[in-house]
Amino acid sequence: MTDTSSTLRIVWVYPDLLSTYGDQGNALVLRRRAEQRGVCTEIVHVNSSDRVPREGDIYLLGGGEDRPQVLAAHRLRACGGLLRAAEDGAVVLAVCAGYQIVGESFGDDEANPLPGVGLLDIRSGRGQHRAVGEVVADAAPALGVGQLTGFENHQGRTALGPGVAPLAETRVGVGNGDGTEGCFRGRVIGSYLHGPILPRNPALADVLLGWAMGDLPPLPPSWSERLHEERLAAAG
Ligand code: GLN
Repeated sequence: MTDTSSTLRIVWVYPDLLSTYGDQGNALVLRRRAEQRGVCTEIVHVNSSDRVPREGDIYLLGGGEDRPQVLAAHRLRACGGLLRAAEDGAVVLAVCAGYQIVGESFGDDEANPLPGVGLLDIRSGRGQHRAVGEVVADAAPALGVGQLTGFENHQGRTALGPGVAPLAETRVGVGNGDGTEGCFRGRVIGSYLHGPILPRNPALADVLLGWAMGDLPPLPPSWSERLHEERLAAAG
C-alpha cells in the first residue's frame, strides 16, 4: 500500500468470492467522488488467499453466492484484519452476502447457522422465497441521505439486534424482511442493496467519504444523481 497518510485507501475485500453483482462499482464511485475533491485514492484488491490489511480507510464487501459466502466468512474470521480495522474506526460497507457475514451468524445453503465476523448485531437465516427486484427505502434520518434505491437478489432474511439501527424503512421490496432494510452501527453499514448501492445513491457515498475524511465540499449533480431520481420515479 502507498505510504501516504493523505491517500484514501479503499480496500475491496475478496473480489474472488464476493463480486457477483457488480458491487465493485461502489469502489469506483468512492474513488471518483474523492478525487473530484482533490483527494488521492488507492483501491486495494484483497483476494481470499491474502491477508486483509488493517490500515485501510474504507472496506467494501460485495454480494456472493451461498458457498463462496461460507468460504469468505471462514477466511475473514481466521484472518481477523477486518475486525481489527473496524475496531480502529475504519468505515465498512458490506452488501448482501457481505452484509450477512459481517453479522453474528448467517445460514448456509441448507440453513445451518454459521458464525460471522461479528461487526454487526444481526443474525441472518433463510426466507421461504427469494427476494428479487427493485427496492426503495427511507434512510434513517440521522444519515441525511433521503431515500435509497437499489436492486436486491437474496434468499436470506436478517434479524436486527439492539446493537444496530435500521439503515432504512422499506417502501418497495423486502430488505431484511421485517419492513426494514440494512443496518448500521458507528461507521459500519450493511445493506441488501446492489445496483450497486453507491452509484445509485451518491449521497450515501458522501456519508462514507465524510466518515473517512471529515467534512466535504458538495459536488455538482452528475449522472449518479440523475440515476437516483430516475429510479425513484420509476419505482413510485
Ligand atoms: N447468498 C446470499 C442469499 O441468498 C447472498 C446473496 C447475494 O449476495 N446477493 O441470501
